[in-house]
Amino acid sequence: MTGTMADLAATTGIEVPTGLLIGGQWTKGRDGGLIGVTDPATEETIAEVADATAEDTLDAVSAASAALPGWAATAPRERAECLRRAWSLMIAKSDALARLMVLENGKALPDARSEVTYAAEFFRWYAEEAVRVEGSVLTAPSGANRILVTRQPVGVSVLITPWNFPAAMATRKIGPALAAGCTVVLKPAKETPLTALAVAEILQQAGVPDGVVNVVTTSSASRFSEAVLADPRVRKLSFTGSTEVGRILLKAAATNVINCSMELGGNAPFLIFEDADISAALDGAFLAKMRNGGEACTAANRFYVHEAVADEFTAAFAARLEALKVGPGLDEGTELGPLVNEDTRSKVASLVDEATSAGSRVVTGGSVPDRRGYFYAPTVLDNVPPGAGILGEEIFGPVAPIVRFSSESDAVSWANNTEYGLVSYVYTRDLRRSLRVAEALEAGMIGINRGVVSDPAAPFGGVKQSGIGREGGHDGLLEFTETKYIAVDW
Ligand code: ADP
Repeated sequence: MTGTMADLAATTGIEVPTGLLIGGQWTKGRDGGLIGVTDPATEETIAEVADATAEDTLDAVSAASAALPGWAATAPRERAECLRRAWSLMIAKSDALARLMVLENGKALPDARSEVTYAAEFFRWYAEEAVRVEGSVLTAPSGANRILVTRQPVGVSVLITPWNFPAAMATRKIGPALAAGCTVVLKPAKETPLTALAVAEILQQAGVPDGVVNVVTTSSASRFSEAVLADPRVRKLSFTGSTEVGRILLKAAATNVINCSMELGGNAPFLIFEDADISAALDGAFLAKMRNGGEACTAANRFYVHEAVADEFTAAFAARLEALKVGPGLDEGTELGPLVNEDTRSKVASLVDEATSAGSRVVTGGSVPDRRGYFYAPTVLDNVPPGAGILGEEIFGPVAPIVRFSSESDAVSWANNTEYGLVSYVYTRDLRRSLRVAEALEAGMIGINRGVVSDPAAPFGGVKQSGIGREGGHDGLLEFTETKYIAVDW
């Protein structure tokens, strides 16, 4: 290992546990295996965490299962207080958590700071929701009985999270699960386990009882998922990741008919009409594309710009991206860090190369900088042909392909020409057009004159192959409950 845990603690200001959290105990795992964590800016190993075996994974399910009756019976107010304390603790440690995320994920410090605030907010929001799980009572149409509808915790929940938002994707699942009375086994991505471990320790400090939150880090995601999805004690899977892996998990979850919430890939179109406020559209486009360095499922993946404003938008957008300070995320003033790993970077580079061979014009960027770390230059591609591969795949990097359109109907049909349907962005000053287009776009979320839609209070999720279910808002809590109907004759 290049760096030590002491170096890491000195740089971040936080000591992170590196074991598995099972039943309230931090353990090394049965065979003592380790996974290295790499800093994408230096390509050096900064820490090692435990590599769980299938048996360790099942121990975590046993711990979650043992803790379930007690946690489900805990007063909602008490569950709420635990989450509320976790929110305060995260805010108190936000600088250290942000630094930790920069080191394992690569994102720039300002992005990491906003993620910590966003992530912590899921604990505060679900602290408030924990005491608002409602049911209903009505009289049967025949008048013979009452129909009582209540909600109960779905049970032991497995949470699988990606590396792009290591804190927020964990809290967005843990918050509602705990609020609903479920116990969880969290598996963070192997690229970014440290943040999840730090969040788990915060939950312990907030008074969450042993076994309610278990964390299993592993080098083999399939070893983990095969073990948990075959275990009848597991009743819920909440997954955030690629559509490709989502399909595998849905198939495996079919055996035990496990309740699934899936937040999968996106291919967000960003539409700019001729009547848009171009300066607002530039700000929105910048956020939608460059938040988290483009490594977001909500990232604008395709810009459809009306031909009347395309030259103006393209030149100004390229100038903005070109001016970005690129470097290691903790360096003073860095606005864009490296991508998370070599695979992600080479995918971005090959999508750009393919698009340029298909006739796109590189306005800025389009290359791998000559430096250590998994960097890619912020890139704008103009005149991208409508059939180009880059418009059909999630780029997950700082690359903006621009396509010009002349009619609203073309823009909408091109935007919908994808198996994805997570989010779409629309810039126009015309209220009627904005709502008409919002209705026609096949997406679970629409930003109208907004470049960011994520909000802990809003239902986040996609249609088509972008997912099933919603996270955040009240809907996010309901995903961790089962409806029970009681027919009563009183
Ligand atoms: P990304 O493209 O964001 O890396 P992935 O879908 O590959 O998306 O990864 C998201 C999460 O899913 C990570 O925690 C990863 O370890 C996990 N994962 C990947 N493959 C599997 C699998 N076969 N079973 C369970 N989890 C998986």
